[in-house]
Amino acid sequence: MATPYDHITETIIKALEAGNVVWQKPWKSSRPANAITGKVYRGINPFLLAIAGMKYSDHRWLTFKQAVELGGSVKKGEHGTWITFSSPTVKKDTNGDVVSKYWLMKAYKVFNVEQCENLDKLQTLESLMSANTEKDANIVAEEIWAKYADAPEILWGSEAFYRPSTDQITMPKRETFSSNAHFYATLFHEGAHSTGHASRLNRKSVTESDGFAGQLYSVEELIAEFSSAFLCDEAGLEIPTRENTVAYLQSWIKALNDDKTMLVKAAAAAQKVADYMLGVTAKSDEDTDAADEKVLATA
Ligand SMILES: [Zn+2]
Repeated sequence: MATPYDHITETIIKALEAGNVVWQKPWKSSRPANAITGKVYRGINPFLLAIAGMKYSDHRWLTFKQAVELGGSVKKGEHGTWITFSSPTVKKDTNGDVVSKYWLMKAYKVFNVEQCENLDKLQTLESLMSANTEKDANIVAEEIWAKYADAPEILWGSEAFYRPSTDQITMPKRETFSSNAHFYATLFHEGAHSTGHASRLNRKSVTESDGFAGQLYSVEELIAEFSSAFLCDEAGLEIPTRENTVAYLQSWIKALNDDKTMLVKAAAAAQKVADYMLGVTAKSDEDTDAADEKVLATA
């Protein structure tokens, strides 16, 4: 039987095969949000919902139980969309002492409000655009970078890369980029790699890299791409398609097909990266008591 992992990964692979780089802000106007809490979905969920939501004009989503809470129900024959969340979990021994802490990744289904009927208590949400639409996106992008408290040193050179051995980012000068969005997308991408350093999030795909074309390398590139997309969106920057992204597409499709858990894990890791760079404590995105909740994995 197909798992939520399979559904989620197949959705993204299909889009990638159609040449659609789904994490480049696929929503047209309002971001996908929960119909009751009003919270916008984070991580990979906005992308999954934007793909599933192309059929609908409403940006509000809810669980089966939440539809009932609003006095209505899901229409007969409608299928839900799998989305994910991770929540911090603490394992204790019999004395109540903490043995280990880890993140539990789970999946649950949501429905667009247009898939429901009789939602008598449904309220309108304010149009939820990117968080910072009032300010100049370039200023916000600069502020976001400034929040990365223990960011590594930046050297200016002809290519963009992060070198773990010396913990330094090399970036081409801003004027060599075709737009500010390209500059920040690249800076956030390299910055994301640098969070993997042993002194920061100590991520295996950075500390134990297996070189170009290896599986760890593929995962790390996906984490950096997602992180960059999350941060560009936070800044309100249009996420640009970069040459590198297009070049990686085929290798990602292959890697995602080989390992159906990779996409969800990379997206969860990227959310931690973005939270780390923004200086916020990673927290659970759980906003559901969905009955169909399934544990995917620990991360
Ligand atoms: Zn990279």
